[in-house]
Amino acid sequence: MDRFFGAKACDRCGGSLEGGRIMSMFNEQTICMACADAERKRADYGRALEAERAAVRAGDRHFKGIGLGGK
Ligand SMILES: [Zn+2]
Repeated sequence: MDRFFGAKACDRCGGSLEGGRIMSMFNEQTICMACADAERKRADYGRALEAERAAVRAGDRHFKGIGLGGK
């Protein structure tokens, strides 16, 4: 969690995190809100969300996400 709150720039685009930060649904990157919006538009976002929920249901608090695939 230290890395999450200590991050100064988006892990994905390198942009400022002043507008807000969020943990990626696909991997462990700390990303800006613009990148978070882009994630939500991905065709496999629903799959990432389901995988995350399934992991939490199974008691896995350290799920690393499904990854960004071919991107
Ligand atoms: Zn970004």
